[in-house]
Amino acid sequence: MNLLELRNVESFYGAIMALRGVSIDVTEGEIVTILGANGAGKTTLMKTISGLMDAEKGTIDFNGQRLNGMEPDRIVAQGLAHVPEGREVFPYLSVEENLRMGAYARKGGGVAEDIELVYSYFPILKERRAQSAGFLSGGQQQMLAIGRGLMARPKLMLLDEPSLGLSPLLTQEIFAIIKRLNAEQGVTMLLVEQNAHVALNTAHKGYVLEMGRIVMADSCAALKASDDIQEFYLGKQEDSQRGQKRWKRRKTWR
Ligand code: ATP
Repeated sequence: MNLLELRNVESFYGAIMALRGVSIDVTEGEIVTILGANGAGKTTLMKTISGLMDAEKGTIDFNGQRLNGMEPDRIVAQGLAHVPEGREVFPYLSVEENLRMGAYARKGGGVAEDIELVYSYFPILKERRAQSAGFLSGGQQQMLAIGRGLMARPKLMLLDEPSLGLSPLLTQEIFAIIKRLNAEQGVTMLLVEQNAHVALNTAHKGYVLEMGRIVMADSCAALKASDDIQEFYLGKQEDSQRGQKRWKRRKTWR
């Protein structure tokens, strides 16, 4: 079943068209990644899904509900949590207070249990539970941002560039946890990443976004095997017949 379905979505910044008819499907239980260069529209896509920006055209359906026009807090309450780029934690609140903030939109109890669940995935946050979030390292802040998203008990998490500014080792660690959350907690993930290596090794399916348009969609196995993806996203150089590197091969998806 499609948990999230976008059809022909267009978003603008004033006169600038940032999404140009985007259609994507996210099936329940999957990790889906959106690859794209700087300025391709990845963050705009995430903001449009989570209601921080309005889609001018097209439809966004989540778990059988139309999200167009819905306020962001109601969208969170439907089970869709957005972990924004740049891990925007509340720096003056403690780690635990940050986690509690993540539960604000949901009904019912179980907050203490959920905090313990977050701590079981991110033990370092338990050690630092009373510290101001502003004093955490970049990687720990990313863990806190993901943990805060989990506190909404989401069916779907939107993760915007979780590897941004992190060392390769920390990136591996965070992505291993993302995979575990997907497998063990059943959280479906829509993952925006510039690090195509890690994204394609984590996700089941991927889309390539360029200048606001989806130009490719396939399983991650197929994307990894594609010459275009290898050359333009995985940084593999191709040898020409004369034994020189060719840098200007045309992409075939245009
Ligand atoms: P990055 O990886 O750099 O975050 P991105 O793929 O997330 O890139 P977006 O931030 O979604 O790209 O930007 C898509 C397009 O919209 C770009 O051309 C960008 O210049 C433009 N844009 C983004 N934010 C604004 C804004 N606040 N006002 C005007 N144009 C914007």
